[in-house]
Amino acid sequence: MSDLAQEYDFFPAHVVRTRRLGPTLLRVTFGGEALRAFASGGRDQSFSLFLPQPGQDEPNLPYAEGEGWFAAWRAIPADERAVMRSYTIRAQRGGGGSGAEPPEVDVDFALHGVGADAGPATTWASTAGPGARVVLLGPAVADNRSVSFRPPADADFVLLLADETALPAVGGILEWLPAGTRVLAWIEVPDAADVQDLPAPDGVDLTWLVRAPGAPSGLLPALRAAELPDGAPYAWIAGESGTVKELRRHLVRERGVDRRAVAFSGYWRRGASEDRLREEAYADPS
Ligand SMILES: Cc1cc2nc3c(=O)[nH]c(=O)nc-3n(C[C@H](O)[C@H](O)[C@H](O)COP(=O)(O)OP(=O)(O)OC[C@H]3O[C@@H](n4cnc5c(N)ncnc54)[C@H](O)[C@@H]3O)c2cc1C
Repeated sequence: MSDLAQEYDFFPAHVVRTRRLGPTLLRVTFGGEALRAFASGGRDQSFSLFLPQPGQDEPNLPYAEGEGWFAAWRAIPADERAVMRSYTIRAQRGGGGSGAEPPEVDVDFALHGVGADAGPATTWASTAGPGARVVLLGPAVADNRSVSFRPPADADFVLLLADETALPAVGGILEWLPAGTRVLAWIEVPDAADVQDLPAPDGVDLTWLVRAPGAPSGLLPALRAAELPDGAPYAWIAGESGTVKELRRHLVRERGVDRRAVAFSGYWRRGASEDRLREEAYADPS
């Protein structure tokens, strides 16, 4: 077995319950015995979620093919194969191979668009009810490459910059960080009622921004205006690709932050579905 095969596995699961966290965010709790072996590394642990197409009872995903699954999945017509999207584990219970609790994971969906403008994952989540079947491709070991938040031991403080799609990751990061870590975080959401209670012990300075409909992101102006503490930062940035690039550029070029100390990830790109981003990456893997 390759290292990759040992690091990740497929986990069939079903919806246990859903809960509205705010106008934009919907928490979907997945359960199923397979999830007992799901080994979230916490922080910004991401995974691939496979969803059925409208009218299907379960995702059409040939995961029994083992390592050949991707080619087999791609060979199925686009409107018949499972929808594949990236999400973050907000919380896990009864997992890691132990515990009497039923195994469950929470995933917070940022709903966007309406009707034909909504992506398939948003449409699925808005209507999913208990029993709806999905498959997760996720970690079989807690130390896996789908955790990006890895601050070096000598960082003096942590910067977090996120939009609503990366809010679940920020929650996981704040829960994971040792008490007393100096953190400056900016989180932008589309509605004031999306603001959540996140763990913010001493040392964590959390700023919420609310983006008016159609307005550009306020993250860069907020960061530009901020006075940062002395010392070496470790920055973690995630959200819309264009905004993420600008934030990274500001830190590296204008603030002189060491580029190796900036972890950044475009979680979505305006005007492009995740399928399109995957096809682009497939065509040009550099
Ligand atoms: C590592 C990683 C972790 C992620 N974790 C989460 C998470 O925990 N929760 C979460 O909600 N999202 C998360 N995302 C983002 C999520 O995968 C994308 O938003 C995804 O595009 C949603 O799929 P969709 O089917 O709804 O829309 P798609 O079919 O992919 O896109 C349809 C259209 O909607 C636009 N669009 C996509 N997302 C948004 C958005 N948020 N706001 C406005 N327009 C949008 C696209 O530009 C496109 O034009 C994560 C992404 C990555 C890479």
